[in-house]
This record gives sequence, C-alpha cells and structure tokens, in this order.
Amino acid sequence: MIIVMKPESAMDDALALRARLGWMGLEVGPVVQHDGRLSLAVVGRHDGVQWDAMSTLPGVERVVPFTRPFKLAGRELNTERAVVQVGSVEIGGGRLAVVAGPCSVESEEQIHTSARLVAAAGASLLRGGAFKPRTSPYDFQGLGEEGLRMLRDAGRAHGLPVVSEIMDLDQLDLLYEYCDMLQVGARNMQNFTLLKGLGRTDKPVLLKRGLSATYQELLMSAEYVLAGGNHRIVLCERGIRTFETFSRNTLDLAAVPILKELSHLPVIVDPSHGTGLRRMVTPMARAAVAAGADGIMVEVHPEPDRALSDGQQTLTPVQFTELMATLRIIAPAVGVEVPPARPAG
Ligand code: PEP
Ligand code: MN
Repeated sequence: MIIVMKPESAMDDALALRARLGWMGLEVGPVVQHDGRLSLAVVGRHDGVQWDAMSTLPGVERVVPFTRPFKLAGRELNTERAVVQVGSVEIGGGRLAVVAGPCSVESEEQIHTSARLVAAAGASLLRGGAFKPRTSPYDFQGLGEEGLRMLRDAGRAHGLPVVSEIMDLDQLDLLYEYCDMLQVGARNMQNFTLLKGLGRTDKPVLLKRGLSATYQELLMSAEYVLAGGNHRIVLCERGIRTFETFSRNTLDLAAVPILKELSHLPVIVDPSHGTGLRRMVTPMARAAVAAGADGIMVEVHPEPDRALSDGQQTLTPVQFTELMATLRIIAPAVGVEVPPARPAG
C-alpha cells in the first residue's frame, strides 16, 4: 500500500504517521517526496489492516494499493528513474555506461593491457571475473583473491571502477574490499540467500537475468536486494535459453523497454553472453543502445583466441574501439551521451 499525504502535510506529519504504522507492526519504507506530496509505502505483509480507516488518519489524502508484487523495484512508488553511482561513474541518467574487459582475469599483464585499451576506447567500468561459474569443473575457475587484486589495481591505474562476480555469500568480504560493484550472474539470479546478503551491503549490484527468468522473476530478485535496504541495483539482460541453438543464448532486447516500463532501475545489456558469437556482439550492442539501454557490458581481451574463458564471444580491442565509435553516432539519436575516447595512458 502507498499512503499519500495531503499537499499541506509536513514532513513531521509523515514521520509521525510512519512511527504510528511502525507501532502497529507494519514494515514502512522511508518518507518520499513526489509531485509536491509526501508518501509512505507499506511494503511487508499487512494482513488484517483496516485500510479504509487508514485513509481517515490526520494528514492522509488517500491509500493506494500496489498492483505489482515488485513494490520497491516497480514504478508505482519510485516514479523517477534511479541513477546508480559506481565509484566516479553514474549508471542511468542519460550517459551510456560501458562495462568492458575480459571474461576472466588471467594475469597481471592481461588485465592491465585490457584496462588500458578499453579505457582508451571510452569504457567507463572494467570487468573481469575472479570466481567463475563454469559449466565444467575441469575448466578454468578463476584466480580468486589474486585475480581481484589484479583487477582492482588495473582499474585504479586506468581510472576505471571495477565489477566482478560474487558466486557465494562467503566471498562477500573479499569482493567488498576489492570491487566497486558486485555482479550476480545469471546462474545465481535466484540465489535468495546471496540476494539477501547483498541487500545488507551498500555496494552497487549488477543483477543479471537468469537463463530462463521472466521479467517478473528478475524484478522479484531485485526486490530481495531492495527490501534488505540496498537500493543501488542495475539490471542486466544477458540472453535467455530458447529453442534456438545457433547462438549461445537469445538476446531479448524487448527486455530493455519492458523493464524500463516496469521498473525505475537502470537496464544494461550484455551482447557477449547474449549471443556467444563475436561477430554478433557489435550489431547487438548497437541495437541495445538504440533500444534505450543505459549501458552495455562487453567482453574484450587483448588476444581473444587465447582467452581462458569465453574467447569465442570476446571482441578484440580494435573491434571494441570501432564499436564505441559507432555508438557515438547511434546514442545521440536516442538522447544518450557516450563517454569520449581518451588518449591511451
Ligand atoms: C559473466 O559475465 O562473466 C558471466 C558468467 O555472465 P552470465 O552470468 O550472464 O552467464
Ligand atoms: Mn564470460
């Protein structure tokens, strides 16, 4: 339920009402201001509450029920678009966020070279997995803490905040220390223990869509993090499993306008995992930007054919630089700015 206060009600009235609802055992969100009115959201369970009586309380104008189960991730409460700050970079808010880097951190040299080249092309954040969710236990599993340290140092050296995947809650302290943003991978989108743990932190979360997750399931996963108190979430479309086997996944670009209609959270697109094919990454990244994505996540490696994971879907630095140049033409047509290329340092 959303309780909308009368226009003449002051913050003190709203806070008094909030305290009163709290005494009644209800879980109430913070007082928010919108269109000149204060409002409060009762987000938890509220069986047996007499809502008709609630609308007669002092200062209350009306009580509006939520029509969707994703109360905090939806737009009924948060009508303004969220902007998520990650280090010095804003995701959402009209500037394209470009997350680039290798699938996995492999060595000091590999991640530093990647960081230098993607920064020069105009990337805003550096990616690189240190804990890898691989289908086979015999494949490269990531460098763990050493990898995180290399990633952080490479990001610092080239002025890029870093993002890496958290696979398990027991990795939280480590990832918290080294990363500016924590990625929840597709396979963990419904790991509710992990989501609850991330809800208790203040680190931005990049939440990837599960392999067979509906939009509502993705938003309900975001809801877990939001309900825990962490509002810094970015959604990521990364392709879903369909009957098509030509591409690794089917990139669902309709997710961009649909998620933006349903939620105030920023939405980015990962065309690398979304297609699994290097030659499809550039066209789908362009399409994602044209569809209104707040950013893209692209795998880039100095020598993709020697990559220890996902080389077949990874761009060369030259291809990435060319992609960025075309995004600078496409993005302004949909009101989005692209970070400039910078001289290589
Ligand atoms: C990744 O980004 O490296 C990754 C494993 O992605 P996903 O969880 O989308 O498969
Ligand atoms: Mn990968």
